[in-house]
Amino acid sequence: MKTNKAIILDSRPTDKVSPANFRLVEAPLPTPGPGEVLVRHHYLSLDPYMRGRLSDAKSYAKPQELGATMGGGTVGEVVASNNPRFKPGNFVVGMGGWQLYGLSDGRDLNVVDAATIPLQAYLGTVGMPGVTAWYGLNKIIAAKKGETVVVSAATGAVGSVVGQLAKIAGARTVGVAGGADKCAYAVKELGYDVCVDHKSPRFAEEMKAALPNGLDGLFENVGGEPFAQCLRRLNDFARIAICGLIASYEGPPTALPDMRLFLVRRIKIEGFIVSDHLPLWPQALGELAGHVAAGRLRWRETVREGLESAPQALVDLLHGGNFGKMLVKLI
Ligand code: NDP
Repeated sequence: MKTNKAIILDSRPTDKVSPANFRLVEAPLPTPGPGEVLVRHHYLSLDPYMRGRLSDAKSYAKPQELGATMGGGTVGEVVASNNPRFKPGNFVVGMGGWQLYGLSDGRDLNVVDAATIPLQAYLGTVGMPGVTAWYGLNKIIAAKKGETVVVSAATGAVGSVVGQLAKIAGARTVGVAGGADKCAYAVKELGYDVCVDHKSPRFAEEMKAALPNGLDGLFENVGGEPFAQCLRRLNDFARIAICGLIASYEGPPTALPDMRLFLVRRIKIEGFIVSDHLPLWPQALGELAGHVAAGRLRWRETVREGLESAPQALVDLLHGGNFGKMLVKLI
């Protein structure tokens, strides 16, 4: 009998998350019932939001249940189906979780074309992170030609798409990333005009030099010191999209300055969650796929091997140990 392997949440972290909070379990491979689909997962997506779900504090989404398979985005191949929407051999994207095989009633699954776009990109540039970039940039920042847009975590799954879409829109783009390699890649491959290393001892001066005319749009993925630096350089009528605050997911909260700043400079600041905007996903995904097909969007991946590597991959993602989209390859 074939077995399925899964990783469950075994305990909630009291401080920083560690692999000890998770446990690998085995179970018989399920057989699809009426209307159900069995998917063999090829890649698992690791995403910063997972850190929030490990806590049972009230948030916009339900916490991850203790003892249950960790939730998460997956891409894979249908291996058995009793659902007319899916045939064995179809490649699908869904929320199969941290396991080798996922059983679904099909509601969370979408068939994708893995012939023209690599399968795992449906977890990144043409998936949830790509739509997140598209939404925050187009619907909140709405960058105009010649404006300056700053993107933190500039080479990551979301940030890499934001920077390239802002450039396509004609903006001057300034990335903030951790380390010389990421900054070099941001400029050479992702087309940022400048990228500032937030680990540099001269970070504040370098941000000042990178923003001689201030900034008009801020796509905030991190919080902390890089955010504080950007607030000092806001132009009148600047727009700030609060997408994520990863520096505070396991660290101190990001402070806001005196609110007078927002009044005097007439700033728009808006937090958003991409899943609140499902009706816009088809448009966003269509545009992103069009950019990919035309060779206008590039990305990088950090790929860990094997289901067992998922807990450490999540820990590393939360501390900058990824370079581009963090994935776990399962076969
Ligand atoms: P990334 O691929 O950008 O990976 C996370 C990156 O964050 C790291 O590589 C690191 O980049 C940076 N980082 C981590 N810890 C710190 C820290 N303490 N200080 C500074 N930088 C840090 O992840 P995603 O693209 O998947 O996500 C980016 C952000 O977008 C996250 O905040 C996430 O929560 C948010 N998000 C929000 C969504 C929404 O609907 N609002 C949907 C999807 C994502 P570096 O080394 O360059 O600093």
